[in-house]
Amino acid sequence: MSNRTPLMAGNWKMNLDWKQGLALVEELGEQLAGVDMSRVEAAVLPPFVDIRTVQTAVEAGSLPIAYGGQDLSAHESGAYTGEVSGSMLKALGATYAAVGHSERRQYHGEDEAVTNAKVKAAFAAGLVPILCVGEPLEERQAGNQVEYTLAQLRGGIEGLDAADAKQIVIAYEPVWAIGTGEVATPDDAQEVCAAIRGALREQYGPEVADAVRVLYGGSVKSSNVAELMTKEDVDGALVGGASLKAEEFAKIVGYQG
Ligand code: PEP
Repeated sequence: MSNRTPLMAGNWKMNLDWKQGLALVEELGEQLAGVDMSRVEAAVLPPFVDIRTVQTAVEAGSLPIAYGGQDLSAHESGAYTGEVSGSMLKALGATYAAVGHSERRQYHGEDEAVTNAKVKAAFAAGLVPILCVGEPLEERQAGNQVEYTLAQLRGGIEGLDAADAKQIVIAYEPVWAIGTGEVATPDDAQEVCAAIRGALREQYGPEVADAVRVLYGGSVKSSNVAELMTKEDVDGALVGGASLKAEEFAKIVGYQG
């Protein structure tokens, strides 16, 4: 049993306008009243335009919900039309920023260099990056899931010092399991999450490796989360579709281990 506090993070993707986001976060707050929040952390990653509203609701209700961006700019400020900086998120009380989600890699061509720059931008702004890594189906079918995922990990954290590395959250999200309903088996998740921790141990030593939370993501639901959480190196979940319903996401947060 590790002393890492599990993190359940809900990635809303491009869903819910600010009014819908407000309704969800308020309902989630009510649902979490029945959950022992000393043993688990809950976070939501809303669209940027919802974050101010989420902040207001969380502060007004003292809700046990952290929040953050689904992405951030690699740059601090300036002529980067359409981008949102880490310091802007931080000014809204954000804790986290997802970086390198497979949809950013696939639709926006974000490679290891961009991902690494965004990880560093998040730390520079005082945010905790949730670095997403994971293999596509053909790499899994070829048995290359560990090698492929570790290459993304090493690229994403290149140049980080141990103090930052200790804070980072890694989300192992096999691309074939995202939004498909096809969840990795607990053993599949454990294999890669353990390899991620092993790579961190090799690079930074046991103190960092034992502190970092490694999440699993890909079709997590209230019906499969508990089994995934029995695995030693799985420290929580990055949840897409199932985070859009307050009752369902609260059940995931309140999983019975
Ligand atoms: C995700 O968006 O990171 C994700 C894991 O989505 P889903 O839970 O819908 O598979």
